[in-house]
Amino acid sequence: MLNATDLMVFYENMLALNNISITCQKNRITGVFGANSAGKSTLMYSLSGIMLDIQKKEKMAGGERITLYGQLEFEGRDIMNMKPSNRARAGIVLCPERRRLFSESSVIENLRIGGYLATKEQAKVSLEFVMALFPALTKLQKRLAGFLSGGEQQMVAIGRALMAQPKILLLDEPLMGLSPLMQATLIRAVKKIQEESDISIIVAEQYARPVFPIVDYAYILENGAAVMEGTRDELMDNPDVKSAYFGMS
Ligand code: ATP
Repeated sequence: MLNATDLMVFYENMLALNNISITCQKNRITGVFGANSAGKSTLMYSLSGIMLDIQKKEKMAGGERITLYGQLEFEGRDIMNMKPSNRARAGIVLCPERRRLFSESSVIENLRIGGYLATKEQAKVSLEFVMALFPALTKLQKRLAGFLSGGEQQMVAIGRALMAQPKILLLDEPLMGLSPLMQATLIRAVKKIQEESDISIIVAEQYARPVFPIVDYAYILENGAAVMEGTRDELMDNPDVKSAYFGMS
């Protein structure tokens, strides 16, 4: 349903994405793994269209540093030049790195803001879904987002993205800075989203180990290039992947 072909992104003359082609099928979980600076956020920004906004801001400030090439197709439509707001309307929703919640707003306000594209009925159904997915949020609805733990904030960030009625959910490093226990809780929730909806998911993470069990297909990025790809089982059986990403030889 989402196909990126030969994506290239330059920051000035630095190649941040080097000819990346990735596909995410309907209702599949696709992993994108890579170390710091491998290009994960650049990829997520390119898929969600935020990169066009960043590029526009730069132009307005007098610079022209960022260039993008390649093809991007969503449900058979060319979306390479589609604005991020229209991509969100079409169902491509980014849950950004470092959560970026409105810290002065409550949990429920953050969630409602996410539902700005939804009808009243959709928002009601989605809110119930989010609360069932993250029962811990039920009691925290009135708490200001800035006073939540990192894990709770991530629940709100994923919940807010779900309120936007995604067809494809882009999760950029959802586990960053969280305890193994919280990571496991969130990964179970991501799997549940797949099981209980027809949403597709792309999840970018630095550490593959906690996410690997739930991905259907994954790509490994190094210095902006996809150096390996395969189904979960193919990658699990690959000795290079095992040693580089699981510390096993
Ligand atoms: P991290 O885990 O640190 O978030 P990442 O895999 O998401 O890493 P990106 O943030 O996509 O990596 O960065 C890829 C490369 O592009 C890095 O070398 C980074 O320094 C560079 N980069 C990212 N954003 C910009 C920018 N706005 N201007 C210049 N260089 C940038």
